[in-house]
Amino acid sequence: MPFIQTTQKILAGLLLAFAAAPAVFAQQPLPFDPKHVCTYDGTPIKGPVYEFAPSQATSQMVGRIMGSVGLKPRFQVKAANVPNAAAVIYNNQRYILYSQNFVEQVNQATRTDWGAVSIIAHEIGHHLNGHTLGLDGSRPSNELEADEFSGFVLQRMGATMLEAQAAMNALAHEEATETHPPRNARLEAIAAGWYRAKENGGGQATIARNQPAEKPAAATTTRPAGPAIPREELVGKVVFNASPGKEYYLTKKLQLVRVTEAGKEVVGKLAKTDNSQYPFVIQSRNNTFVYLADDGYIYSRAGEKMGYVAKI
Ligand SMILES: [Zn+2]
Repeated sequence: MPFIQTTQKILAGLLLAFAAAPAVFAQQPLPFDPKHVCTYDGTPIKGPVYEFAPSQATSQMVGRIMGSVGLKPRFQVKAANVPNAAAVIYNNQRYILYSQNFVEQVNQATRTDWGAVSIIAHEIGHHLNGHTLGLDGSRPSNELEADEFSGFVLQRMGATMLEAQAAMNALAHEEATETHPPRNARLEAIAAGWYRAKENGGGQATIARNQPAEKPAAATTTRPAGPAIPREELVGKVVFNASPGKEYYLTKKLQLVRVTEAGKEVVGKLAKTDNSQYPFVIQSRNNTFVYLADDGYIYSRAGEKMGYVAKI
């Protein structure tokens, strides 16, 4: 009798599996080239990828991640048969794909839910940093930017540094690969993001562009530009949150100029973008890019408020 019951169970299970199969395989594979996709640890995507409805918990997690940096998700989240998680664009739409199985395993292995949060945050970091717009897939510098973003986000969400690093500790390759940096560099990037968030006030984000902005007192205590730059050549004074005491100016020659006791120094240049919300990009000498928004605030690629331009 138990034998028959077991056989019936197996048969019933098989029938269910067959019944479910057409629903899955009737789908078209997702139309993207797996070579151009970041997966969290660089494991290649093999074979066609199919999407499934995401779990409610993961959808909510994405909402919380985006909420912590004050942005609305402009991408869809789908469960899929990917090795771990991936940021991709297809049909002109941004997607975060993740393996439900993998997310469960990570949370078990790291004994914390922050494991999965940090991986999804990393993938979101690829989208927000514009890495998925190119065709070059993963590369080490992009991975470190996405890692830093995940550290930043997890601090905002309330994770400790160890919690923010838990998944990386458990999963990353110790040695560098062609696409991904070694584990210690990635842990360092998470720490850098985590501390940056903490130094910016910690806890809940104050960087959302739709939040009332607190312009620091420095705006009203601007000392005259002095002889270094004639006033008529200036567009405005730039105040960076990270260095409120330093004097930066935008000039009509589209330069970012730093003024010190010793004189003036061009430290970056301004260029027009085709985005009306962020009409200008400022490129620094060391090739970092920040964006000047139509409200006068300066944002990083990750959407973090870095400072603002004040009229003088
Ligand atoms: Zn990545």
